[in-house]
Amino acid sequence: MSHKVYNWQLKRKMKYKYPQVRPQRQVAWVFDTNKCIACQTCTFACKNAWTSGKGQEYMWWNNVETKPWGFYPLGWDVRILEKLGAQKWRGDTYKGDTIFETPGYGEETLGFIPDDDDYMYPNIGEDEGSVAVKKGEYIKVPHQPWMFYLQRICNHCTYPACLGSCPRKSIYKRKEDGIVLIDQKRCRGYQECVKGCPYKKSFFRASTKKSEKCISCYPAVEKGKQTQCVQNCIGKIRLFGYKSKWRSPRADNPIDYLVHIAKIALPLYPQFGLEPNVYYIPPVNVPENFNKQLFGPGARRAVQMYGRAAKDKKLIGILMLMGCTDKIIHSFKVKGDLARGFAYGYDEKGREIIKVPLKEPIIIRKQHDKQRDVRRISIT
Ligand code: SF4
Ligand code: SF4
Repeated sequence: MSHKVYNWQLKRKMKYKYPQVRPQRQVAWVFDTNKCIACQTCTFACKNAWTSGKGQEYMWWNNVETKPWGFYPLGWDVRILEKLGAQKWRGDTYKGDTIFETPGYGEETLGFIPDDDDYMYPNIGEDEGSVAVKKGEYIKVPHQPWMFYLQRICNHCTYPACLGSCPRKSIYKRKEDGIVLIDQKRCRGYQECVKGCPYKKSFFRASTKKSEKCISCYPAVEKGKQTQCVQNCIGKIRLFGYKSKWRSPRADNPIDYLVHIAKIALPLYPQFGLEPNVYYIPPVNVPENFNKQLFGPGARRAVQMYGRAAKDKKLIGILMLMGCTDKIIHSFKVKGDLARGFAYGYDEKGREIIKVPLKEPIIIRKQHDKQRDVRRISIT
């Protein structure tokens, strides 16, 4: 038994196991791939918080992989892309099949279970370019070799494949915020969620014989705080908040602005059909077709817009607000001009929680600091 549901990322209806039920508001993230330095601080912030126990050694609820050769687990995306076959877009409408529309006989979704070995190389491909630069070669600009860092967590999908695949109904999506959780008491460890999730973000724990996944740091979120991976991001590439319904975005909500109004932040592999809720500002230095395969047909426009961001006060304002507070920003405002103005973030009650300049000041310090009587040595 399946139902017809609407997927706004595909601009069409599709099959899903359960009827369409959207939460009152949806937790969502925006990651700016262009600013990530792959320091993995987010990865370890998450691991220290949630998966440091026995049996969780290979569980990386957050990981950062280098595309095109990085994967965790091994080949997670290329294997499902291959099974899915041709993925056709006509304009903004997806004309191919989703993983819910091409399952094998008796299956809920198209999927596969990785082998144990596939979890053995979390850093495979790290910092490797698309092609090798041979000895003696030098890089010309613009250059052919490229790579970028892809930050990955559970997408707390609107149509979660993990939830749709679970025969025990152990997985549920919270009405109040759309967080997807596995009820540890109900789970019997059948691993259908591991098989069904195309992002491979549900993990089996051999020591408890149950599956576990990202919980969107819900104890922090319920207190108005952003998730650990966002709070600890060194590159300030991440933003966490609530996304409004796709039909009624709010221009003063930073997530709505990036996703629905500017349309600069795009879902990862929307063609899978899950309506994932982690959104990416695509990398500017990779071939257009690769970006399109990962982020859909809006990638080209998003890259062009990023190139013009310096002239867009609202966009710059949100980019500057990213990573500047541990609190959830519910609304924002930009005041003043690009050279001297500020961006402000507000909490749910409209109280100011953060103020940042639109243009980061550059301070050139004197070689001799008279106050401290120290001399600074320039190493450049
Ligand atoms: S990313 Fe995977 S584990 Fe997370 S909600 Fe979607 S299907 Fe479930
Ligand atoms: S902490 Fe931020 S900059 Fe560092 S790897 Fe994670 S997302 Fe990238």
